[in-house]
Amino acid sequence: MPKPNGYYFYMQAMRDEKPHWRNKGNGELSQLCSEGWNRLTAQEKKVYNDMKHSSGIVLPKPGKKLVGGTEKGETDLGGQDSLGRSLLQIHLSAEAAVKKREAEAKFCAEMAQNNVNRDNFMQEFYVISTTNYCITEEMEKKVYVPAEVSIAAFSLSNGVNKFKKMNVFCKPVIPFGFTLRVKTSCEKRLKVPYPFEDALPYEEVATMIYNFVQEHIIGRKVETNGSKANGNIQTNEKPKKVIIFTHPNYRETCEKNLEAIFDGAHNIPFQVMSLADIVVAFFNIKTEYDKMTSAAMGDYLDHKRRQLDYKDRYCDHHEKEDAPECTTAILAMWMRSSLEILGSAGYKVKISDKISKPKSTVPENFTW
Ligand SMILES: [Zn+2]
Repeated sequence: MPKPNGYYFYMQAMRDEKPHWRNKGNGELSQLCSEGWNRLTAQEKKVYNDMKHSSGIVLPKPGKKLVGGTEKGETDLGGQDSLGRSLLQIHLSAEAAVKKREAEAKFCAEMAQNNVNRDNFMQEFYVISTTNYCITEEMEKKVYVPAEVSIAAFSLSNGVNKFKKMNVFCKPVIPFGFTLRVKTSCEKRLKVPYPFEDALPYEEVATMIYNFVQEHIIGRKVETNGSKANGNIQTNEKPKKVIIFTHPNYRETCEKNLEAIFDGAHNIPFQVMSLADIVVAFFNIKTEYDKMTSAAMGDYLDHKRRQLDYKDRYCDHHEKEDAPECTTAILAMWMRSSLEILGSAGYKVKISDKISKPKSTVPENFTW
């Protein structure tokens, strides 16, 4: 029995999207859908084409009705996968994810082109990195327990900004049964004591990040008591769309960590986007015949693929430790790699030999 092709999945999606197509036969539906299908990009089509490998759907024998009834052991798009998720839902969210990625890449391409057109290489790009005490892969709903968070800024012409950066450790909120795992991570990987007296509760970390975004990225003064900025401030009242970049391979984890810290995605005061997208956008403007893909750029920037010396680029806490997983060092590496490849593409970039450590953001009088 044949496996349905990508076009089949597209047809079923359209059937669901357009109520008046719902009762059309497959022959007629196929004609109605062809124009829309032809307008899809190769990447969009790929989403549908990939579904034939993952859906478990098998086409019924010729002459049988395609949708609205299934043969024994078969399923249609109204069915569920082995985890009970609606196939249609999976399909729609995969499509939405591709659309989102494409929109972001386009946004970054325009941003880079804009900067190049205006000869503006001073624009600072903020980058964020996070680590985890643990991620509970085995629980039905994964719990992310964020550990260290660093944010830093760089621009093409000035390199890494020595002042606009922050580094903080979260006090872990450990799911039941995971204390040993967290302790082991602290000892072996993160190189922080357990319990760690410099670590702050999520709420304080959230306020600290919020204030950092307000002060440095938006350029708005924050009340000294640490509360959210009130309405009396005159400058920059218009809310700006703040973007902080992160490595695409660790982006999902970073976003989940921020969700934990900010108690919900809607509270995160900025949008996370792919560092590879913005770097590749600048890169491709300079290289007419040797354009890179975002995925290849992601590989190039990945700190795990490099044998660079982390020395002198750890945060205050980690500088005394032996090979810790330190977000400050990881960020330094991402930024340095970005500057290096853009330098190689022909931009005049500033790469400093030694990247200074960020000031500790833990208040001196802080008590556990
Ligand atoms: Zn560190």
